[in-house]
Amino acid sequence: MLRVTNLEAGYGKLRVLKSVSLHVSAGEIVILLGANGAGKSTLLKSVCGILRPQGGRILFNGRELGGAGMERIVEWGCVLVPEGRQLFSPMTVKENLLLGAYRRLRRGEGAKVRQSLEEVFDLFPRLAERQAQLAGTLSGGEQQMLAIGRALMCAPRLVLMDEPSMGLAPLAVDKIFQTVAELPSRGITVLLVEQNARGSLAIADRGYVMETGQIVLEGSSQELADNHDVRRAYLGKDYRKIEE
Ligand code: ATP
Repeated sequence: MLRVTNLEAGYGKLRVLKSVSLHVSAGEIVILLGANGAGKSTLLKSVCGILRPQGGRILFNGRELGGAGMERIVEWGCVLVPEGRQLFSPMTVKENLLLGAYRRLRRGEGAKVRQSLEEVFDLFPRLAERQAQLAGTLSGGEQQMLAIGRALMCAPRLVLMDEPSMGLAPLAVDKIFQTVAELPSRGITVLLVEQNARGSLAIADRGYVMETGQIVLEGSSQELADNHDVRRAYLGKDYRKIEE
């Protein structure tokens, strides 16, 4: 579904990503781990069109994404849930969700958008209960649900998530990971950037570890969880195998 090959990207003269290659197959949850500043967000921004790659290729279902522009990339079915949620605080939950679908609404896809709204409410009953509440007054966990819900309103095939667990209480983190784990059964593939290795490895199929702009390790979730360096850097000494 997504194949990134020898990707180079950065900001002005600053080269952040150095020949990054990875792939995500349909139906997978793939995690990208890495310390602060490793380049994880830069990779997601390059895939979704916020950042223009300086080299390499990004193929999504056979289409080249590099330079395609964010709007077209969303239309092709690839959408970002950004770090920090970036909701419209003075607008209601429902208005935020409909904003996620505004292009579909403009194309006259009202019936399909209503169906997407029902699907989001089915996935997050809490949002259905609070659809008239202002987004800025939601709890952190509810805001993250809304950010994911808004992305799903674009009817994506691939969702890129940038640290959805950041700043949330443990119960809210569990709820978010449970929901992410459900997405493949709803036809949505996930590329997940996380610092919470414990929670994300438990739901992911495979993963990559990035250090200073390069992929330094890849493997199944179990292989990563068993890896000495991953355990030391991301899981702590007392981490046990994820099936225990
Ligand atoms: P974190 O987990 O802290 O979000 P990350 O792995 O997502 O880290 P990036 O946000 O991709 O890392 O940042 C990689 C490098 O690029 C960092 O050195 C950062 O300072 C730099 N960088 C990020 N955004 C910009 C920008 N808009 N302009 C200039 N440099 C940037």
